[in-house]
Order: sequence, then C-alpha cells, then structure tokens
Amino acid sequence: MLFSDLGLSEDVLRAVGDAGYSEPTPIQAEGIPLVLQGRDILGVAQTGTGKTASFTLPMIDILAAGRARARMARTLILEPTRELAAQVSENFETYGKYHKLTMALLIGGVSFGDQEKKLDRGVDVLIATPGRLLDHVGRGKLMLNGVQVLVIDEADRMLDMGFIPDVERICKLIAGKRQTLLYSATMPKEIQKLADSFLTDPARVEVAPPSSPAENVEQRIVYLSPRDKDSTLRAIIEAAEVQNAMIFCNRKRDVDSLFKSLKNSKLGVGALHGDMAQSYRMEVLAKFKSGEVPILIASDVAARGLDIAAVSHVFNYDVPTHAEDYIHRIGRTGRAGRSGHAVTLSTPAEQKYVDAIFKLIGGEIPKIDIPGLKTPATKSNETSAPRKRARPTSSKKTSEPKQSPEKEKKTSTAPQRKAKSEDDSSKKPAAKASKSKSQDSKSTSTEKKTDTNKRRPNAPVKGLGDHVPAFLARAPKGVK
Ligand code: AMP
Repeated sequence: MLFSDLGLSEDVLRAVGDAGYSEPTPIQAEGIPLVLQGRDILGVAQTGTGKTASFTLPMIDILAAGRARARMARTLILEPTRELAAQVSENFETYGKYHKLTMALLIGGVSFGDQEKKLDRGVDVLIATPGRLLDHVGRGKLMLNGVQVLVIDEADRMLDMGFIPDVERICKLIAGKRQTLLYSATMPKEIQKLADSFLTDPARVEVAPPSSPAENVEQRIVYLSPRDKDSTLRAIIEAAEVQNAMIFCNRKRDVDSLFKSLKNSKLGVGALHGDMAQSYRMEVLAKFKSGEVPILIASDVAARGLDIAAVSHVFNYDVPTHAEDYIHRIGRTGRAGRSGHAVTLSTPAEQKYVDAIFKLIGGEIPKIDIPGLKTPATKSNETSAPRKRARPTSSKKTSEPKQSPEKEKKTSTAPQRKAKSEDDSSKKPAAKASKSKSQDSKSTSTEKKTDTNKRRPNAPVKGLGDHVPAFLARAPKGVK
C-alpha cells in the first residue's frame, strides 16, 4: 500500500514525502480513506502507531476546501496534556507545510491574551486541552458551532485525568452535523459510552496494542527497600552506559525529590510534570531531545505519548500502578529496531503491581542482585517454584539469598485515576502552582552536564564496584 493510494492531495503527499515516510502504517492505510469519506471513527490505537498522521493528513485536505471565520474554529482536536497538544500542532506544521492553514493551540500555562488574538483572526484548526478550551468558551471568545471535525484523542487518558465530563460538555456545544474521530488505546466502558453517545455509525479501526514489550528491550528488576531507591538508581546510572534515559515516577512529588537527589550526579538531569510552567516543560523537553540534558525524570501523564526517538534506558523508579503503563514506559527504549534497557525498582509494597505486570507480559522479569543491597523478601520474589520468564531471558539465573521480611513503611502508590489530574492547568490559575517548583528546577536542570558518550568504560564505578551486571555495562546496540 502506498500513500498515493489513500486519496490524499498532491500537496499533502509532498509533505509526507518530505517527512521521509515511505509507506502508511496500518492505522493510516485503514483510517485515512474513511476520514476522507466523512465517516466517524472509533480508533483503538495508541501513540507510536502513526495515529496522529492518520487524522491530521486527511483533516488538512478537508480544511483546504474552506475558509476560517473569526472566533469560529472549523476543526477541533482535544488532547489530554499540553505536550501532546503541542506535538499535534507540530504535526500540523509538518504535514500542512504546503497549505495556508491557521492554527491555535489552547493549552493551560500560556497567557489567554495571545490565544484570544489568534481566535479573533479565525482559525482552521484548534488544538486544545479540555479545561482551557471551556475557559475560552466561558469568556465568550470562542464559539464551537462551526466545528465540522472533532477529534477526541487519547480518550482513555482523558478518563484517567477526570476530563470526560468536560469532553461531554464540549461535544454538546458543537451543535449540528459534525464528523467525530475518537481515539483511545483501551476501550473501558466509560469510553464506549462516550462513543455511543457522540459518534454516528462509526467505523472501528483497531491496531493491536502491544501486550508484550519489544523483543529488543532487555528488562530487569531490582527488589529493594524504599530508602535504597535513590542510591541504587544513581549507582546503576553511573555504572551503565547510559546515553540518555527516562526515569518514571508515579507521583509528582517524587519527580521533584528525585530531581533534587540526582541533580548533583555526573549527568545532566531534567524533570517534567504537570505542575511545572508550560514554557519550562517545553524547554526541558527540547533539551532532552537534543541530548543536552541526557536524563529526564517524568510522571506518566507528562510523558505520555511524547515522541522521542532513541532512549537507551528506561528506569521505573516506581512500579507503575497500571500494568499497561509498564509497556508504555519501556516502549520508550528499543525503538526502531535499536536495543534498549529497562530497569524497574520495586519495594515490597509495590509487589502487587509487579505481579500484575508479570501477568500481563506472561512471565517474570529477571532480577538483578546488587551486592551489598539488602533485598527485602516478599511472597513473590522469594518463590522457589520457577515461573515462566518474560522475554527476553538472556541473563544468567540469579540466586537470591533468603532474608527475613523487613517491616517497611507502606509507600502510597495511589492510582492516577483521580479527578482533574495534573495536566490541564486551566483548572488552576495559570503557572501559579508551578512557579516555585519550576524555577527551582530551572536553575539546576542543566547543571552537571556531561557527555555520557565520552565516559571511559574503565573508569572507577561508584556504588556497584566490579559487580556491574554485564548488560548494564555495555552500550545498547544502535544507540548513537
Ligand atoms: P504517533 O503514533 O502519531 O505518535 O507517531 C509516532 C511516530 O511515527 C512519529 O514520530 C511520526 O513522525 C512517525 N510516523 C508516522 N507515520 C509514519 C509512517 N507512515 N512512516 C514512518 N514513520 C511514521
């Protein structure tokens, strides 16, 4: 199948060619003709599948047929986070380079004034987070009844973040005939209900979600006490050939405290979560993408769907509370045929989440024994009966010295399914919440920058000594 078989215009095909894509991904091959026919779409797909282009490319052609009117957007794309919204707008710029389309990005953390000026001039494409969009509607600066195409992207993440009531309000505000495209990585009943209420005879386009991690990601787990997390992570990072890494934390405050803990290490560290000012988040992301800051500590929500091509290591500072998030997180490494490493730190309190991950991936993750590190025993990490292991299983079997269960303070790993989560800051005064933290972070985020590529392999290693697990000591294949 070729892009030219899908019914797209010459100008869009030219932009796709410039982007270097040789053939459409499955969701593009199936979805683009349907969008061009005016069908509603229920897309079951996650980021990384080429989903964004599957709706932006046909939308550009649909938009080319008309003209923008003041304060009446013609198309609206709803995104759960500011970063995703910004990423989609970059996609529009890339694919719409041969068209003269106007676009406004309505996200929290940015002043209303500039956004209003754009709306006054009239826009073809509105890309927005739900809260900020409704704020503009409430201020009388925007009418939604001219919207012909509505995209609800990452609907299950909207649900996690408590945005569904806002999305429903927006759907109701868009009166009249419209084409609706709804994308979700999973299809919980709340999303199915949303689709039943607001989509008309949708075509279901499904791309099988990866329920197993990529073969080329070498996974490991370390069982430890909460108090050992920072020092162990630091030791592993310093011992391993980390070109660049994403470190995931479950909570914003852990992102902050880990940032403080790691900022004095040899590597440049940046932090990303929803309480930080938008401008700061963009800056950190740009520095991480360019390699200036090789380590990014992030919450799931802030990092969701970010398109970062080559990450050599993923570290789970906390075990994700939703097993699917484990797949998402470690999918940041081992992209495009490169090999990658994923290391998860788990305390006894997190064992239930580890068990859920084992169930999802159909086996255990090989554990790393770090000499000198006390491994708290739990029912699951002590079992003598061998269980099936998760792929890939190349490591040597490790023997775990039995230790008596250690009493530990239960760490709160509350699921993120909570009301009005972190990313739509229009629910709070813009940038207020973020100021102190982000300024604190800003002043230090790029400190201690070193070129990790230049690190000498024989240099003395702090923390793990000679006991660096072999797989951590070598550079992943294919990562420059
Ligand atoms: P998405 O699923 O929209 O987040 O896209 C993931 C990545 O795939 C982005 O970096 C896109 O630039 C890239 N991409 C989208 N479509 C194609 C294609 N047909 N061929 C190669 N890469 C693509």
